[in-house]
Amino acid sequence: TIGMIALDSQGNLSGACTTSGMAFKMHGRVGDSPIIGAGLYVDNEIGAATATGHGEEVIRTVGSHLVVELMRQGYAPQKACEEAVKRIVKFTHNRKKTLDNIQVGFIALNKKGEYGAYCIHGGFNYAKYDSKGNELIVSNSYLK
Ligand code: ASP
Repeated sequence: TIGMIALDSQGNLSGACTTSGMAFKMHGRVGDSPIIGAGLYVDNEIGAATATGHGEEVIRTVGSHLVVELMRQGYAPQKACEEAVKRIVKFTHNRKKTLDNIQVGFIALNKKGEYGAYCIHGGFNYAKYDSKGNELIVSNSYLK
């Protein structure tokens, strides 16, 4: 998935995401990216979030919407991403599955321009652009 979230000079939030889906996917599979609230969610009053990784897990938790709702409750973008990943971890354990073959990552941005990212395994690269220029950042993760 390529997910992009932005805050413009007028203070308006926007977002977009695109995906090629998963390798060896079932014919007709729909991932999280085309489902608003799962792969992408933007609320111009609060913040924006987008997801990458195993769409089934993101859909189960309506992940990007969850991240934005957590920000609405006062979570910083980083904490909101962490909480959403932990929700996926909990759902996975509840289903008696392991995390071995599940990767999900979120990035989030709020109305103040604060941002964050988090994933299950290992960290993922994301790019930030602001008045200071471009920066490549590696997210933190639930498991190393
Ligand atoms: N989230 C996408 C999907 O499940 C996969 C990706 O990260 O590109 O279809």
